[in-house]
Amino acid sequence: MQLVRVLNYIIEKESLSKWLESLSQKSTLVVPVENETGATCFEEFNGQSLFLSGRTDFSAKKFFLPTNEKMFFFRKKTLSYGISPNFPKGRLIAFGVRACDTHALNALDHLFIKLLGDDCFYSARRKNSTIIALQCREACSSGFCASMGCSKPTGHDILLAERPSGFIAQAITENGQTLLSAEFFKKTQDPFPEPSLECSKGLSTSGIEENLYANFNHPIWKKEAERCLSCTSCTEACPTCYCYSSSDCFEFGSGDSSRSRERDSCQLLRFSEVAGQHIFRPSRESRLRQFVLHKLSYYKKHFGTHLCVGCGRCIDACPVKIDITEIANKIQGDAKK
Ligand code: SF4
Ligand code: SF4
Repeated sequence: MQLVRVLNYIIEKESLSKWLESLSQKSTLVVPVENETGATCFEEFNGQSLFLSGRTDFSAKKFFLPTNEKMFFFRKKTLSYGISPNFPKGRLIAFGVRACDTHALNALDHLFIKLLGDDCFYSARRKNSTIIALQCREACSSGFCASMGCSKPTGHDILLAERPSGFIAQAITENGQTLLSAEFFKKTQDPFPEPSLECSKGLSTSGIEENLYANFNHPIWKKEAERCLSCTSCTEACPTCYCYSSSDCFEFGSGDSSRSRERDSCQLLRFSEVAGQHIFRPSRESRLRQFVLHKLSYYKKHFGTHLCVGCGRCIDACPVKIDITEIANKIQGDAKK
């Protein structure tokens, strides 16, 4: 529940890890880190150094929508069935979530909780989660969150902003307030800093959903797709990509079976394969166009909101530097001629 009166608190830098340590005693706490491969992502807190200098290469999405999860099972011998024993339990706290990623979670909530009629796995994780957002000090080089209206966080429980000596914190919800314990936080009269992000990239969104759709055969799709490798790095990095496929596993010996789902990608040839081995999007051009139109046209036309939060991850992740803003801006520019 939202707090009526928002107060500001401060925490000193040296107290931060003690606070996180205390949170991790009672909940699963995930934090932004640089992993052993050099990628920045969210991992469970174990006292490691935090990555706080910008948005991570990968969002915290995997903690709400795992790459692979078993959903239910059937046991032949006992004729029993049920929801997977891995059904999400316990509280999850995500620390250091950037504004774009709070909007991405909002988009996933809209889909999995509202449109899909309360997906119980996703919903259990989200309803038991606390989001501690961290204000960006500066815009990231590939982001265009301001163009997408996603430069200020939404739906979070606590907002933090970094200062030279520590962090200033605001509890937005009652849930967030309970975590700002007096042991680590002091009240302050200091005003909360307003972000002043100037993204170097921009996207002209006026009428974009209609213009992209009307330019289904624009030559840019073919031109960009000639470089595309169908590697799925863009969909893997995107915090709003939600597509998954499900598969049934049958054990011949015991006769037991189970159903799992695993994240999937519209950039793969077999993604649109249906019975009779017909593939609806056989060309890279059609698959790249699907990715961009899903984010910036179809979802908005159907549900009133874009499915892109302007994080720029797909641009950074693409090995051949295909850029969603360059494609969309080219079509937007030509549509205005
Ligand atoms: S489409 Fe690209 S810029 Fe938009 S949310 Fe996904 S990864 Fe971020
Ligand atoms: S990351 Fe780039 S090359 Fe790979 S599938 Fe996406 S657009 Fe194509």
